[in-house]
Formats: sequence, C-alpha cells, structure tokens
Amino acid sequence: MITSNYHTHSTYCDGANTLEEMIEAAISKGFTEIGFSGHAPSSAYFSWESRIEKLNRYKAEVNMLKEKYADKIKIHLGLEMDYFSHIELAEGCDYTLGSVHTIYKDGKYLEIDHSKKIQIEDVNEHYNGDFYAYIDDYYTLMADVVAKTKCDIIGHFDLVTKFNEHGDLFDINDPRYINSMQKALNALIKTRIPFEINTGAISRGYRTTSYPEQSILECIGNAGIPFVINSDTHNVNTIDCNLTLEQERLDKLGYKYLTTLKDIKQYISSL
Ligand SMILES: [Zn+2]
Ligand SMILES: [Zn+2]
Repeated sequence: MITSNYHTHSTYCDGANTLEEMIEAAISKGFTEIGFSGHAPSSAYFSWESRIEKLNRYKAEVNMLKEKYADKIKIHLGLEMDYFSHIELAEGCDYTLGSVHTIYKDGKYLEIDHSKKIQIEDVNEHYNGDFYAYIDDYYTLMADVVAKTKCDIIGHFDLVTKFNEHGDLFDINDPRYINSMQKALNALIKTRIPFEINTGAISRGYRTTSYPEQSILECIGNAGIPFVINSDTHNVNTIDCNLTLEQERLDKLGYKYLTTLKDIKQYISSL
C-alpha cells in the first residue's frame, strides 16, 4: 500500500483545502509522508512578483506544520516548478517537481491544461489548427524541464494529452506525435531523474488512465528509471486516488518506484 504523496496542492494555489486539512486527511488515510507541491509562481500564468509574499507565507506555514505534526506524519516542503518559474523560488524547499503547463508562442503564454476549449482555440489561432506542431512545442520544453527547473521528480510528462481521452484531438500513434514525444522522453531518460505516475486527471474526471500512458511508462521502466506515484491532489478526497492500484501495476511490470523522500534524494545523489 502506498502511504505517501508528493504532489499536493492547497488553498495557497489552486487547491480547495488548507494545508492542515490536507494533512489531517492524509493522516486519516494512514499516510506516513506528505509532500506539498504548491504551484511556483511563473511568468507564464500570473504576475509572479506579486506572488512572492504568498509563496513565503506558504513556505513558513509548511515548515511550522512540519513541527506541529512531527509525531504523526512526515511533512515535506516542495514546489511544483513550471518551465517558466524562476529557479530561485525553490530556495528552502525539500524537493521540487518539474512540469510544463504553458508554451510560449507569438509573444503569448498558452495554457495547455486549462480546458479543451482553450486548447482547441490556441491550436487554431497560433498553429493553423495543426495539433502536432503545438504538441512539438510542448515536448520541446518538456525535453528541457530537468535542466531548466533542476527538479527531483518529472511532473505529468504527457499532460498535453489531458483532453484527448477519446483521441478526437490527435492520434498518439501518429508518427509526428511519437517523434516529438520520443525526443523529449529520450532526453529526460538520459537525466535518470524519476518520473511521476500522476493520477490527477482520473480523480478530476478528465481521464481513465494516469500520466504517462502505458507505452511511455514502459520506455521509462525498461530504462531502469524509478517512478514516484502521485495523486496531484487538489482536495482532501483524492489524496490516495488509485495510488495502490498504480503500485500493483508497477509491481506486475517489475518496475522500480520510490515512496519516501529520503529514498528519492538518496537515488538522485547517487546519479
Ligand atoms: Zn501540474
Ligand atoms: Zn499539480
């Protein structure tokens, strides 16, 4: 059974519950560790300068709660860095996730995971309707996410597929999709940094499967890279969404995974 999660949001960003509510929920589910990964401010989606004060309060409160709950659960201070987040924002953090939520095109930041409607509009407006050109820009950033964010865990590698559950936007078996995705995957596999298995789109009803999809997961697992199984939770009800099912899947496939931050850090320092 998985009793940890390193991808947790709260009311400090776009989560529905406070840090303390998330901690209480984790304890009630028998968790032994919880890592908070509030969205790092990014030049892409808000004026990040105005968020620094809030970020500092977030860090201080997580650190305070670490002490308060020390005898009940291990709490870790993390950040979900976006490709366009400034690296120094992670100062004082125990770990970070590295994610791509936006691409930069025609002088504008395009949010790739906001809604299906916006994704389609952006592709029409900025890529002449060519989804594969849009996807290529996404994976070009993703290929560089470890170098750019210095993350400990690679977040939702194929997030660009979020609204494509039924394959109606593009075909993940199309050579153009595979070529763009594979280039990013090869680049990230070379870094040996752990990839997360992210069940967040399942709990939010967008997808029936986790990120990354099966064939990508197999490339990573076969390369001997360990996974971190995360729920990308935004409320108290989804902290443990499918985590143990994903663990069983990895066990069946014989792939490695890390469940404590100590192990994640130890693995990274061995690279
Ligand atoms: Zn994310
Ligand atoms: Zn997240």
